[in-house]
Amino acid sequence: MSQPLHLNAYAKVNLGLDVIRRREDGYHEVKMIMQTVKLYDHITLKRNSSGQITLSTNLPYLPVNEKNLVYRAIDTIREAYHIPDGVHADIQKHIPVAAGMAGGSTDAAAAFVGMNQLFDLGITQETLMKYGVRLGADIPYCIMRGTALSEGIGEILTPLSPIPDCWFLIAKPVFSMSTKFVYQHLVLDEHTVHPDIDGMVKALEAQDLIGVTSRMGNVLEQVTAEHYPDIDRIKNKMKAEGALNALMSGSGSTVFGIFTSREAAFSAARACQCEFALRQTAVVRPFNKSPKRNRS
Ligand code: ATP
Repeated sequence: MSQPLHLNAYAKVNLGLDVIRRREDGYHEVKMIMQTVKLYDHITLKRNSSGQITLSTNLPYLPVNEKNLVYRAIDTIREAYHIPDGVHADIQKHIPVAAGMAGGSTDAAAAFVGMNQLFDLGITQETLMKYGVRLGADIPYCIMRGTALSEGIGEILTPLSPIPDCWFLIAKPVFSMSTKFVYQHLVLDEHTVHPDIDGMVKALEAQDLIGVTSRMGNVLEQVTAEHYPDIDRIKNKMKAEGALNALMSGSGSTVFGIFTSREAAFSAARACQCEFALRQTAVVRPFNKSPKRNRS
């Protein structure tokens, strides 16, 4: 019926994650610095005449029905634009699942962007982001990508100067973390150490990598450190192996370290693999958009 559309759905890490307060509706007001990294799922969309949405994936435990955010993104656009055609989406996962790297959100973001292209709908990025936030607070950022300040429940986005070039070591422990559990156990009081997000924004503007890394912080670590001491141990190991700094991403369990050399990042990866039970490691660069780059 038409050519398949191939999309890369990139993961994110949080260079800084602060929670300002818990709102009456149960959502948390956040202030985060987001960074897209070149670790990605591969999504293929193909239209057909079945009138159905079907999914396939390389991970047998991922849902292939409306519980999958890709299904819901496709469904949202089909409904809104009265599209009768069927769509098949194949999801090849490389981003660790339930890991604080927005894996599901970025797949959904790719599906929104892909539907727009596949059916030549001419939807603006801003409108796609509005559809996205209905399914998940991180989806608008995953549509926008790059280095950004994220406020509100995650949907108020300000693009920032891109992080200076560096290498990320991503390490996903064997255990996973539930985002819900982490936020439910978060206690915000006078003992909470809030990361200096405004200082990090200024350091990014100045292209000062040390200024950025020295301000890395994640308030959610106070919850996870208590239950999973390995998170701190992995961070310390990365720092001992030459990382400028290391942090848990989002609600975990992924830990990342920032290095100035690829070799040091790989060597730290090997050291961490020897010492900890890790499901996955990756050494990747940041993904930052150039104004002329088309979405891939
Ligand atoms: P975040 O960083 O936004 O908190 P996460 O990395 O913690 O996300 P995900 O990888 O997005 O978590 O997965 C969380 C849950 O969402 C999984 O348990 C999974 O069943 C479900 N899910 C739905 N769609 C997807 C998808 N396309 N990829 C991964 N998980 C998905």
